[in-house]
Amino acid sequence: MGELTPSDEAELARARAGLVAELRALGIDDGRVLAAMGRVPRHRFVPPSLLGYAYEDRPLPIGFDQTISQPYIVALSTEALDLAPTDRVLEVGTGSGYQTAILAELAGEVYTIERLPELARAAQERLTQLGYRNIRVRVGDGTKGWPEAAPFPAIVVTAAAPRAPQSLLNQLGDGGRLVIPIGGKTSQDLWLIEKRGERLVHRCLCPCTFVPLIGEEGWT
Ligand code: SAM
Repeated sequence: MGELTPSDEAELARARAGLVAELRALGIDDGRVLAAMGRVPRHRFVPPSLLGYAYEDRPLPIGFDQTISQPYIVALSTEALDLAPTDRVLEVGTGSGYQTAILAELAGEVYTIERLPELARAAQERLTQLGYRNIRVRVGDGTKGWPEAAPFPAIVVTAAAPRAPQSLLNQLGDGGRLVIPIGGKTSQDLWLIEKRGERLVHRCLCPCTFVPLIGEEGWT
C-alpha cells in the first residue's frame, strides 16, 4: 500500500466511525466490541486495490480464494464470545488477521491458526506492525485446535464446518463458548455453543456464508 496522506487517514477514520454506527443500528450493543471495531484499521487488512471498500459492511477477497469476514459477522461473533480482558481465546482461520486484531483488543491472549502459510505470514507481519504483542499465529489444521494451550474459555471458527469439530469441543473449558458457522458448503448458520458441565447448549445467531473449513474434522 502506498503512503496514505493525513487527509486519506482522516477520511478512512470517518468511514470507520460510520461503519460502527451502522453496526450499532444492526443490533450490536456491546460497547467494548463497538469500541474495538472503531479502533482497528480494517483498511490495513484489505488489498490496496480495495481500500475504498474497507468500511463497507461486506466480506472482501484477500487472495487464495479466501475472504476478510463481513464486519457485522465479526462483531456479532465477538460479542457472543463475551470476552473478559484476561481470557485466552482460540481463533481458527486467521485469514487477513482482522478478527484476530479485534479479539486481541478485548482478550488477554489470542491463539490463531491458519492453514495457508502465505496468509498466516502476511497476517503475522501486519499484526506485528500494528503493535499487537498478545497474538500467537500458527500454520496448520485448526480443526484439531491448539491442545497445549487448552482449555480455552472462548473459541471462534471463521470458516464453515459440516459440524462442530470434537477436538474444539474438547478444548473448551467449563462455561466456555464456541462460535462457529455450521452447514453446507454454500450457506450456513452461525452457532453459539456453550459448554455447561457435560451439557452443550446451542443457540443459533443468524444465517451466514463462509468459505469452507478444510481439515481432518472439517471438509476434505
Ligand atoms: N476472520 C478472517 C478475517 O477477518 O480476515 C477471515 C477468515 S476467512 C473467512 C477463513 C480462513 O479460514 C481462510 O483464511 C482459510 O484459509 C482458513 N481455514 C480454512 N480451513 C482451515 C483450517 N482447518 N485450519 C485453519 N484455517 C483454516
